[in-house]
Amino acid sequence: MEQRLWIRTRRGGGIDLPLAEVEALAGSLGGQVLTPWHDGYEEARRLWNGLIEKRPALIARCSSPEDVAECLRFARARDLVLAVRGGGHNVAGHALCDGGLVIDLSPMRRVRVDPARRIAYAQGGATLGDVDEATVPHGLAVPLGLVSATGVSGLALHGGYGWMSRHAGLTADNLEGAELVLADGRRVRANERENPDLHWALRGGGGNFGVVTELALRAWPIASEVFMAVVFHPLDQAAGLLRFFRDFMLQAPREVGGLVTLWTTKDGPPFPPAWRAKPVAAIAAVSVGDPDEAERLLRPLREWGRPVVDLSARVGWLEAQRFFDEDYPDGRLYYWKALYLKDFGEPEIGTLARLAGERPSPLSSIDFWVLNGKAAEPAPDATAFARRTAPFMVAFESSWDDPEQTVRNIDWTRRAFQEVELFASGETYLNFPGFAEGGERFVRGAYGENWERLRRVKSRYDPENHLHGNFNIPPEP
Ligand SMILES: Cc1cc2nc3c(=O)[nH]c(=O)nc-3n(C[C@H](O)[C@H](O)[C@H](O)COP(=O)(O)OP(=O)(O)OC[C@H]3O[C@@H](n4cnc5c(N)ncnc54)[C@H](O)[C@@H]3O)c2cc1C
Repeated sequence: MEQRLWIRTRRGGGIDLPLAEVEALAGSLGGQVLTPWHDGYEEARRLWNGLIEKRPALIARCSSPEDVAECLRFARARDLVLAVRGGGHNVAGHALCDGGLVIDLSPMRRVRVDPARRIAYAQGGATLGDVDEATVPHGLAVPLGLVSATGVSGLALHGGYGWMSRHAGLTADNLEGAELVLADGRRVRANERENPDLHWALRGGGGNFGVVTELALRAWPIASEVFMAVVFHPLDQAAGLLRFFRDFMLQAPREVGGLVTLWTTKDGPPFPPAWRAKPVAAIAAVSVGDPDEAERLLRPLREWGRPVVDLSARVGWLEAQRFFDEDYPDGRLYYWKALYLKDFGEPEIGTLARLAGERPSPLSSIDFWVLNGKAAEPAPDATAFARRTAPFMVAFESSWDDPEQTVRNIDWTRRAFQEVELFASGETYLNFPGFAEGGERFVRGAYGENWERLRRVKSRYDPENHLHGNFNIPPEP
């Protein structure tokens, strides 16, 4: 009897795929195709978030745009459930799908730099670390996020905040262009001149329009060393620290970027014994200008109150970009949600300080970002990314190891989110989405007035919504 693989289709149910068709797909790709009975399948279906448990029927590890085109044609011809994996770090786990086909870009991580034009060309599976390692030798840095294993595609396609946001804008704002494969297998470019509607949509509109095989990212000059202020206070100082940091950042020069994190220190170095495993309120900030000037600029952050630990130092850019890496290991259990706030006054401050004391897991944090400066400059309709006017973002980053504690941690995150939501305007950030509960209402929360325009672009480039395993923007009816 001919062997078959059951694979899910988009309109419910599935089909029995003859193995000969799987083999033909595998034979046409430079990369590997993994089914559940292949070695390497279990490893390939792991995501950064250990909470996500999905079993795709096929994982196609693409090694080129041609591979991606082949997979998209294969999926379209059979109307398969489809997911696209960049760096695999979105907390919601959309990088995988149950029973369907995964286009896995993780073998496509090459980054090349044009130093004269100050552009980094990153393949769709590159991580932030890959981009930084390629640009830093040229004295350049792309504005990226804070943990180096994160995928640059997901970050850029949904926004992208980091140390440089106030100075150089979001990662999405620095997406000068992209190469994509559309759902029908056609390869196109999107930039200011070619398909400008698509270029507009990619800067915030996510994976809805095509599979991005290369991103062209604007890079900015960076000194060989930057100054990083990392200062810890007891958690009972949280309210004062949040107030001070808000005021400092609202008038700080744009070179300064950072956040306050309400967290618990690690039970080991670099913390002195008296400050290990202790609840803290901490500032982490970087100034990307000249390090002497930066040290001066950041001094007030180190002089406020009575810090218990000060890890501030001059560091290379790569070190700054990796400062938090070891706090977010692969496979831990994570549930992160964020919201924007137009005001950050006493009710918001009091609520965050209290909620931080109620975290069920010491690994969890509440992060407070100030997002003014260059990131706030573009008009809300200048790019698909619409959320520019609320200068504050609060992220609840729940992280824990014990699966028995999952319900408790998710409950805390949702309750905390709901409490702060009372002060918020319903604007969402898709890079910290929880499980994207709320469906379309949640996704629309990221786009506001840009929603209908995004649907028109979707209708043009993916009218049948084959690219649906994402924060979905449906085509126009
Ligand atoms: C440890 C950690 C730290 C983080 N720090 C920050 C931070 O400092 N600032 C910030 O703004 N965010 C941060 N984030 C959030 C991060 O930006 C998002 O999780 C982002 O979506 C990750 O991108 P990825 O490519 O790894 O995701 P994936 O899970 O691979 O992809 C997410 C979705 O994006 C789409 N997609 C990905 N690649 C492509 C592609 N090439 N073509 C088409 N669609 C694609 C798909 O729809 C996919 O489902 C952090 C996340 C983690 C886990």
